[in-house]
Amino acid sequence: GLRHSLRNSGLFVVYQPQILLKERKLIGLEALVRWRTESGALIGPDRFIPVAEQSGLIREIGAFVLREALAVLARLNEEGASGLRMAVNVSAVQFRQRDFLAELLSTVRASGVDPRNLELEITESIAMEDAAYVRQTLADIRAQGVQLAIDDFGTGFSSLAQIKKMSIDRLKIDRAFVQDLKETTLETSISGVIAQLGQRLGIQVLAEGVETEEQALLLERLGCQEAQGFLFARPMEVDALR
Ligand code: C2E
Ligand code: MG
Ligand code: MG
Repeated sequence: GLRHSLRNSGLFVVYQPQILLKERKLIGLEALVRWRTESGALIGPDRFIPVAEQSGLIREIGAFVLREALAVLARLNEEGASGLRMAVNVSAVQFRQRDFLAELLSTVRASGVDPRNLELEITESIAMEDAAYVRQTLADIRAQGVQLAIDDFGTGFSSLAQIKKMSIDRLKIDRAFVQDLKETTLETSISGVIAQLGQRLGIQVLAEGVETEEQALLLERLGCQEAQGFLFARPMEVDALR
């Protein structure tokens, strides 16, 4: 079904705003893929991305999402919303494909978007991978100006030594840690630890899944500059976004 939908416009991309906490200003968007099946049911990426990874379809889906997201950014730029960043999720399977970098660069070039306005969200497992090939690909991507973010940070196994060594632009605090935030335990919160880590290493920190005003205020107090979540906006289709 997924293969059929990919060929017949059953997949589409929605965009969730990312904001600067202090000014509550729009600074970027995250592209999130959606699947509407032939029967009209909506299936979330948490369910179909693993299937796409196993079947190899992730390669085409990833390329589709990247193309769409860049086209949307190019159009928003034309309409005057310049300087926005577009974040696209990349799965480990895509990343290990030998021609990933070449394909990425040719898609960016074709879109006319400045590579510095594109960000790839990678998992902790990719970021921490020891393989020389992976390390080199990450360095090459960044050398082209494309930004790198580690998604769901804090849920996997990150080596602090490795994070210090590698060139990463942004850590995304997993929403589980945002949900845990309480005024009384702020001092010992994981979100606070990640915000400090970012400050020390000169890496931006963005909190995911911010749902309440209280969470936004606590995050700001912890020194986290950027956020994304239902409090500000849900992921939405381009027309609603504009
Ligand atoms: P993610 O990259 O960590 O994306 C954030 C998820 O949190 C999204 O779920 C988003 O809709 C949801 N979210 C945002 N704000 C809030 C909030 O305030 N509260 C709550 N409860 N949830 C919030 P979504 O769209 O279902 O995506 C799930 C995961 O699927 C993503 O997690 C990402 O890992 C993966 N994914 C989505 N699109 C793609 C894609 O194009 N390629 C790949 N490889 N993975 C994708
Ligand atoms: Mg993400
Ligand atoms: Mg995440």
